Amino acid sequence: MPTTPPPALEPILTPAHLRLWQETDAFAAQYIAPCVQGMEAKPHRVERLAAQLMAERHWFGVTIPAQYGGMAAGHVAKTIIIHRTAVVSAAVAAILQASLIPVGAVRHWGTVEQKAQWLPQAASGQTLFSIAVTEPEMGGHIGGMETIAERQGDWWVLNGKKAHIGNSHLAGLHVVVARTAPPGVGASQALTAFLVEDDRKGLTKERHRPGLGLHGFTFGRLRLDGVRIPAANVLGPIGKGLDIAQSISITYGRPNLTAVSLGIHEALVNTTAQWLSSRRRYDGYLSDLPVPRDRLGRMQARLQIAESSAYGAVNLFDRGKRCDAQLIGAKHSGHELAADSARDAMESHGAHALDGDYALQRLFRDIQCTYSPAGTAEFQAIQLAKTALDEPTVEWSEHFAAEAAWARPDPTPA
Ligand SMILES: Cc1cc2nc3c(=O)[nH]c(=O)nc-3n(C[C@H](O)[C@H](O)[C@H](O)COP(=O)(O)OP(=O)(O)OC[C@H]3O[C@@H](n4cnc5c(N)ncnc54)[C@H](O)[C@@H]3O)c2cc1C
Repeated sequence: MPTTPPPALEPILTPAHLRLWQETDAFAAQYIAPCVQGMEAKPHRVERLAAQLMAERHWFGVTIPAQYGGMAAGHVAKTIIIHRTAVVSAAVAAILQASLIPVGAVRHWGTVEQKAQWLPQAASGQTLFSIAVTEPEMGGHIGGMETIAERQGDWWVLNGKKAHIGNSHLAGLHVVVARTAPPGVGASQALTAFLVEDDRKGLTKERHRPGLGLHGFTFGRLRLDGVRIPAANVLGPIGKGLDIAQSISITYGRPNLTAVSLGIHEALVNTTAQWLSSRRRYDGYLSDLPVPRDRLGRMQARLQIAESSAYGAVNLFDRGKRCDAQLIGAKHSGHELAADSARDAMESHGAHALDGDYALQRLFRDIQCTYSPAGTAEFQAIQLAKTALDEPTVEWSEHFAAEAAWARPDPTPA
């Protein structure tokens, strides 16, 4: 059912945001909630219907400029859609957010031709995207990646393996980062991003195996065995794959995962409040007792901090402000706060939390899945320490804001 945003968000949300909030709540209640039980009962199945329903609403184009058929609604709007969907199903929200990350890469790093070809397909939901950076052996150590791309005339040939790739089994286009320089060249010059269509010969996927949580969402493995792609499919400058991966992870990946963990967090608080106020004890309910109330109050306090930091960060980004540290910090604390609340929620339910089909188990499993993507807490902390120490960093939010300013039409009459 449609909810009202918390008062702390009033200064941020416009009337259009408020409408989107309520529309998303209504959509999630009507169309997503009925899918959830089936997704949990059949975790080997890849959820496609929910993606199709979101595509019909053009949500895969929320951040895409109108000239490409997108909603051009910005990052607060994107956070609203992911957050409100994740309250009902984090897995469905994950399908949406995983495509929006590489869409950002094409939007900010693509050529005029690449944008004209791919962004309309993304906006309509006809083609979902994935971003393939992580590898089975090197994990989050991007500089150590072993996937290689070699130039052969007008073609590039890719060989390697990618792991934990969001939308691995739904995407029609994969943004693959691979090594293009010989050993010894530093990561900042050695990697390049490529657009690899899903039907390219030599690209295969391992069978979808369900993970601990986010059932229905695929984050599986890709194999690239001699995949040949034309030189026109190079995304961004050759050698700048690290910049592309990092800039998009900070400005799209982190806020997207923040919004997913925020939705799970809210569902944890709601589920626990309902439980405490319906579980009879003495002459009343558990919610009448000081200790369970105190625990619930702490959960609510964490949720409020997570909400303010999630929306505060993307609001800065929408307003063209320098906000990398805020986007990173919101991801870091959003997950940590929600994970603390997940433990409180489990313990507040006693043994009831362990019953097979109770919703809380899904939430507890799903929150484990927002730790790693778009950088683990350790990597966020490494970057935040630089902010605390006032050490120089590339500010991607500022870079993209400046780019948007250049792209504005010249208001001077011809
Ligand atoms: C749901 C989900 C969706 C994902 N989607 C994508 C996707 O779409 N595309 C993609 O490319 N990847 C994706 N990933 C992968 C994700 O980006 C990686 O899990 C993450 O980068 C960490 O890599 P790893 O899991 O291999 O851990 P590792 O890199 O092996 O690290 C293991 C542990 O060691 C710590 N560690 C490692 N190196 C250091 C260091 N130098 N200093 C301190 N601590 C360190 C890490 O923080 C972590 O706690 C996804 C993961 C999940 C769970």
